[in-house]
Amino acid sequence: MNRLRTLTEPFKIKMVEPLKLTTEEYRHNALKTAGYNPFLLNSDDVFIDLLTDSGTGAMSDRQWAGIMSGDESYAGARSWRHLESVVKELTGMPYILPTHQGRAAEKILYTLLGGKGKVFLSNTHFDTTRANIEYSGAMALDLMPPESRDPQVDLPFKGNIDLEQLVQQITTHGKENIAAVIMTVTNNSAGGQPVSMENMKVVRNICDQYGLLMVIDGCRVAENSYFVKHREPGFENSSYENIAKEMLALGDAFIMSAKKDGLVNIGGLLTLRNEDLAMKCKNLLIISEGFTTYGGLAGRDMEALAIGLKEVFDDDYLHYRIRSTAYLGEHLKNKGIPVVWPIGGHAVYVDAAKLYPNIPVDQFPGQRLVCDLYQKGGIRCVEVGSLMFGKTDDAGKLIPAAAELVRLAIPRRVYTQSHIDYVLDVFDDILELRTQSKGFRIVYEPPFLRHFTALLETVS
Ligand SMILES: *Cc1c(COP(=O)(O)O)cnc(C)c1O
Repeated sequence: MNRLRTLTEPFKIKMVEPLKLTTEEYRHNALKTAGYNPFLLNSDDVFIDLLTDSGTGAMSDRQWAGIMSGDESYAGARSWRHLESVVKELTGMPYILPTHQGRAAEKILYTLLGGKGKVFLSNTHFDTTRANIEYSGAMALDLMPPESRDPQVDLPFKGNIDLEQLVQQITTHGKENIAAVIMTVTNNSAGGQPVSMENMKVVRNICDQYGLLMVIDGCRVAENSYFVKHREPGFENSSYENIAKEMLALGDAFIMSAKKDGLVNIGGLLTLRNEDLAMKCKNLLIISEGFTTYGGLAGRDMEALAIGLKEVFDDDYLHYRIRSTAYLGEHLKNKGIPVVWPIGGHAVYVDAAKLYPNIPVDQFPGQRLVCDLYQKGGIRCVEVGSLMFGKTDDAGKLIPAAAELVRLAIPRRVYTQSHIDYVLDVFDDILELRTQSKGFRIVYEPPFLRHFTALLETVS
């Protein structure tokens, strides 16, 4: 079968949301008004929105039917029992806590485990994970193998944790000071790269050896299962769901932002194996989110999530999902656009410093690409470079980020291949334009998380 055929969308469209086609002049003005920061654009002015894959997916007709039949009882709702049984089966864990988002689950667990003097070790902490840990007074260390940091090295499991560094950090800080080992699957901040079952099993053994808690931040565990089945020997004949179950069975706790592989627009989960810890978490859940049988969710949300957690493991869906992300990445690479390789599960990352060699790093080449994509094609995406992660030293000079990347995140079941082909066409304009493009300077920035609200102007 040819490649186009194998990623044909395994669904048909029953309801449509119209998109507005704007002119380049209109977008030029919209961008100027937004201070060249696409976070400040109105979504109605965006044609293809690749800002994030979080909470932006489309639900199925079965999920919408679940929305209508959701049970809104305060305690012991039917929809809660449905969700609880699906999550128990998936994780093999007895204590299931629903939350309104992934970060609410993180806040509860890391408030209890963290505190001054504590250390968390991870393949990579996602930014809300790190923020919750640091807010508790604890320290968060990312332990990636050096070769995985190279954007061009083709390795099957670039999301793995460095096992040598893991043992080294445990001995350096003392096992009594290690609050938990957190495995993020797929590794979101490292390009959505997968983690192998083998790596997870060794982490489990190390945690057993030192008596440490192993947390799985598994909001993309279904996408990770696809890579395990197709890249790791011994899993060719396992189902995606069984691979996920085998992986989650290794953890002591599981945190999920349901806005990703839960296939819903809002929701989160915290699940635990240990009764004592679960009781403490439930107490915090009740004061911050809601009663234990709904947490931060409506009955209808729990119903849709229970259904989404089954649909996400469908063979045809997962194949389409991973292949359609790779389709964009591979075609960009063939055009000569520098992309982070191999392509991960939920997004394609473009190396903007390479694409715009005439724009110095302190003039934000990533933001230039983000703005050019909007101006030329109404495409919205996000800079993951020095605007997001750069710092300014005392002399006002930029301390740059490790790389100047732009992320094109793919919402689940939202865009068709022709939308993606349109994105590829817009990149032809980018290739023509890139040597004339100018950099930016910041005219306003808030004291933290500046990329959300910073205002910029073009350097003349
Ligand atoms: C999105 C995400 C979170 C946070 O979840 P929210 O639902 O956005 O609060 C935590 N960890 C990872 C790996 C994520 O991708």
